Formats: sequence, structure tokens, C-alpha cells
Amino acid sequence: MYRKFLIAGNWKMNNGVTDSVSLIEVIRRRMEKVRAVDVLICPPFIALDAAYKVTSGSLLRVGAQNMYHESKGAFTGEISFSMLRDCGVSHVILGHSERRTIFGESDEFINKKVCAALENNLSPILCIGESEGEREQNKTFHVVEAQLKQCLDGISNEQAENLIIAYEPVWAIGTGKTATPEIAQEVHSFIREKLVEIFDKKLANSVRILYGGSMKAANAKALLSQVDIDGGLIGGASLIADEFCSIVEIAENLSL
Ligand code: PEP
Repeated sequence: MYRKFLIAGNWKMNNGVTDSVSLIEVIRRRMEKVRAVDVLICPPFIALDAAYKVTSGSLLRVGAQNMYHESKGAFTGEISFSMLRDCGVSHVILGHSERRTIFGESDEFINKKVCAALENNLSPILCIGESEGEREQNKTFHVVEAQLKQCLDGISNEQAENLIIAYEPVWAIGTGKTATPEIAQEVHSFIREKLVEIFDKKLANSVRILYGGSMKAANAKALLSQVDIDGGLIGGASLIADEFCSIVEIAENLSL
């Protein structure tokens, strides 16, 4: 089944409004001719509105890095799905390992957010992945399956149409250590098998599974050439316009 590549930049807590606009302007200019790849930029919350304005009229999409599952109310410091929709956001990263480890987010909590995103027309990019210790103890498949099943609990085929998964081995995030294409493909294909158990085969085969973990222009071709790798969630390299755009161009060339 054909799955269009998605290259998403997770800027994390980097770039305020001014810097976000400048970086997006450079990316927008260079990405003008890109058609075969979906390109998503996920700046910090405060820059979402400006990012949406500076991308309008282009094919660039804007995503958030997190959200809360209630639409409004007494939840100090949180941002809801309706607020994200209101400023033009189409995607939201959920369950990133930094949210899990630094902010204590559980699979159960992430599940509520994934459900709320899907119900409210936002595409969730659900992040799953094992830690270094879990890999060393041969627990990778067990951990990834448990995260996937718990975070997707109660979601039907119909609801899951806009679901995106990101496999992000925690030991590869921000460390410069990348999973080899073979290691990444092995886990991606396992994830797809599990999606077939959760949803029907047609839906499971249409879900994009992104790889994340020190992806950069130098390793993107080998990773994106794997059959079950449908794009990348890029952290550090997405802050450098040339690196990020080069990854998109590699994906575009592989698609043609
Ligand atoms: C991420 O945080 O989603 C990520 C993949 O980061 P990096 O590319 O820097 O490893």
C-alpha cells in the first residue's frame, strides 16, 4: 500500500515567535516545489499562531507538541484541542518520551489525549519506544506492544483514520545514536503487525509509522528506504533549515 512520507520537525522548547517565523520563512522558500511529501513543523505553543500565518498558502502544516484532553476549564497551564484547532493546528505530538520521563505521563493519560485528538479532527502523532535498559534486557517488543495497546485502547477503525505512530527508541533521541535501518525496520514491522491486531488490515496498512531518533540528512536515505518507515520525526536536525529541508528532499526523491 502507498503511504505518503511525512517529515515532521519537533522543535521542542526552542525558538520564540520571532525565531520561529524566520526559520519557517527559510523552510517555506526551499520547500516550494515539494509535492510528494507531507511536511509538518511543530514549534512551541506560543509560536503556533504566527507559524500558521506564515505557512498559509503553502503546503507546510503546523503541529503542536502536546495538548490536554479537556476542551476548556480549570486546568492551569494547559492547552486544549479546541485552542489548537482555533490557531490552525492540524497535528499534535502525544506521548513523547520527554513527556513520559520528565513530566510523568502514563499510557492511560496519553490514551485520553489520543482519543480527544481523534474525536476533534487533529491527527495525533503517538510516540512509543523503549529505553536503553529495556533494549538491553530484550524487552523492546514487549514495551512497544504494551504502549501501543494501552495508548490506543477503545479507538475504533473509523476513529483511527488520522492516526500516526512514531517509533522513537529513547536511547536514540538527542544522543546522536541512531537505530540502524534494520533495527528500526524490525520494530516498525512489529508495530504494523500489532496494528493489524488492533484495527483491520486495511486501516493498519494505511497508518504511517515515523522513525525518530537522531535522524539527519546523512542517515535519512537508509532509514526512509525501509518498507515500514513512512517518514521521520526530527528533533535536533529540524532546527537547522538546511538539514531539515535536505531530509524532506531525500524523502521526495525516494517517492518519485
Ligand atoms: C525527538 O525528540 O522527537 C527526536 C527524534 O529528537 P532527535 O532527532 O534530536 O533525536
